[in-house]
Amino acid sequence: MALVPYDDRDGWIWFDGKLVPWRDAKLHVLTHAIHYASAVFEGERAYGGKVFKLREHSQRLIDSARILGFDIPYTVEQIDAATMETVAANGAPDCYVRPIAWRGSEMMGVSAQQSKIHLAIATWAWGNYFADKEKGIRLTWAKYARPAPNTAPTASKAAGLYMICTISKHEAEAQGYADALMLDWRGQIAEATGANVFMAIDGVLHTPKPDCFLDGITRRSVIALAKNRQIQVVERAIWPDELARAQEVFLTGTAAEVTPVAEIGEHKFTPGAITAALMDDFGKATRGEIDVKL
Ligand code: PMP
Repeated sequence: MALVPYDDRDGWIWFDGKLVPWRDAKLHVLTHAIHYASAVFEGERAYGGKVFKLREHSQRLIDSARILGFDIPYTVEQIDAATMETVAANGAPDCYVRPIAWRGSEMMGVSAQQSKIHLAIATWAWGNYFADKEKGIRLTWAKYARPAPNTAPTASKAAGLYMICTISKHEAEAQGYADALMLDWRGQIAEATGANVFMAIDGVLHTPKPDCFLDGITRRSVIALAKNRQIQVVERAIWPDELARAQEVFLTGTAAEVTPVAEIGEHKFTPGAITAALMDDFGKATRGEIDVKL
């Protein structure tokens, strides 16, 4: 299938305060963000025209920017409203939503204290993040580890942190895998390149503590949904050899939603009852059929 480039589509992009025609949402090459990764972003999904956990995402965007040392010049209410305006303008009630905030072109160099902060929001139709999602995806191990919190701003959804994710995901895909599972700097299991990970061991769910990677909004929703079903959830340090004891493994994320995992390196899993129940619950939660309090 021919690729439709993301800069050559119909629709509207909210850009610094107003909707502009899709193809006009352009940047200059001397933009600080593309040289020094001074950008933070979000990934959201709208279901039936309503963005799931919109306020949490808009707040995380503001918090991510503050961690990188800049203030987005809009309030959380204004970002929520701009997001809803963009979803409505593009006319696809089920879509992916991508807000991004970045440092502009006023200064070039590591220091960019006077640079203007920009915000844009785009939306597009996006189906399953992983092909063959239902039968379970195959993962390999990533070459890179998630950095320690004193090595990088790990609590921020910062563009720069995705450098090792793209390299790892490309290497996995080149070997025929869907994605790569990343360890952290201690050698413990961290997450996939764009999603958090859970494993079921004898009816109990285990997931790594998000102390050096993103505490996903989907992750928190799935923990709440599991607890609603009286499934015990343990957040703890998990070593890779513990995968030998897991019966089920799945990923969670806005793009991935709840995606069963069939294989990680030498370990094989069969998507089972816990994964199926949480996929179903998450689908209902995104459509407002189950209330999830985070
Ligand atoms: N980890 C990474 C690296 C991600 O990119 C994402 C997707 N934003 C997640 C975890 C999951 O976060 P969320 O559930 O908030 O989308």
